[in-house]
Amino acid sequence: MVVDLAELADAGLLDRMGIERTALKSATLNAMLKSGKEGIRRLRARLSELLRTENSEIRDNAALLHRALIPIGSATMHLPVHVGDYTDFYSSRQHAYNVGCMFRDPANALMPNWLHLPVGYHGRASSIVVSGTPIRRPMGQYKPSPEAAPEFGASRQLDMELEVGFITFDGNELGERITTAEAEDRIFGSVLFNDWSARDIQAWEYVPLGPFLGKNFGSSMSAWIVTLDALEPFRIPSPVQEPAVLPYLQQNGEHHFDIQLEAGITPADGKETVICRTNFKNMYWSMAQQLAHHTVNGCNVRAGDLMASGTISGDTPESYGSLLELAWKGTKPLKLADGTERKFILDGDRVVIRGHCEKDGVRIGFGAVEGTILPAR
Ligand code: MN
Repeated sequence: MVVDLAELADAGLLDRMGIERTALKSATLNAMLKSGKEGIRRLRARLSELLRTENSEIRDNAALLHRALIPIGSATMHLPVHVGDYTDFYSSRQHAYNVGCMFRDPANALMPNWLHLPVGYHGRASSIVVSGTPIRRPMGQYKPSPEAAPEFGASRQLDMELEVGFITFDGNELGERITTAEAEDRIFGSVLFNDWSARDIQAWEYVPLGPFLGKNFGSSMSAWIVTLDALEPFRIPSPVQEPAVLPYLQQNGEHHFDIQLEAGITPADGKETVICRTNFKNMYWSMAQQLAHHTVNGCNVRAGDLMASGTISGDTPESYGSLLELAWKGTKPLKLADGTERKFILDGDRVVIRGHCEKDGVRIGFGAVEGTILPAR
């Protein structure tokens, strides 16, 4: 069931949270996020109280119960926040290593900066869409072979990137910074994210300024944001970082999370094949380190900004988070359940990413982020 906060607000059940009713009834969560970690914590505690079996405030109000609790299957989900700014990191070591092996060599797979800072780039917020929105195959420039002249056409190397993103509260004023110790208090929660990528367009355009039209034709986000508070039971130790990172990136305690992730492809009229099983614990840099690094120069972060992890690849070939890696640059095509092969994504393919946490009988779902590829035009 989905709880409609607007109905609970209208019924006066969410007053005295320090959050305006208009914020709770808004089409996006941005106004609500202005109340910060403490406001959202009060709201979450109040919702937990209202939904307890022994609490009668909703339970014994049949009309409200009917309006405020909606079967999940009959709810139409929209993009939960207006994303003001979107940044994509590159924080899975295995992913960076795999890409380095493919395009450079294993001895120099990681770029010299990679172990010293969480590498990232500024993405495009306008083309972030909610799960379920179809994605049109992009047109663009690419080179059919390294020696060939550039051509214009539909991308032939459309790929997915399995990522987990986080949504921020208001973070810092311009010119101020967020420390690693403060960072998690500026994070609202996590989403599933597919950073669709046209590898052929990307390969030709990215030098020297990085990703551009190979990335900004569409990025898919799950409709559900799981609060960082809900993820508390799933904290796990952060990896040892060697060489030691500079003081502003150092952190104490457990800042990584055990989130089980998988991706599948369903061809048009076909059955789904799970192509990847990985975990958010395969991150080298934590969300706190990403946010501290992002703001260390004084760059301000605002409520509703999205920071994505980068492709999450584990250390086995089944756990690679992109087709580029799973099919190893097209040299090891994936076999799907219907007998067809994939080097990259075909028109009509539906790509889904799912995530959940599970421990001691407690399970928290992230739902899914999915999208179907439409032919170029
Ligand atoms: Mn990415």
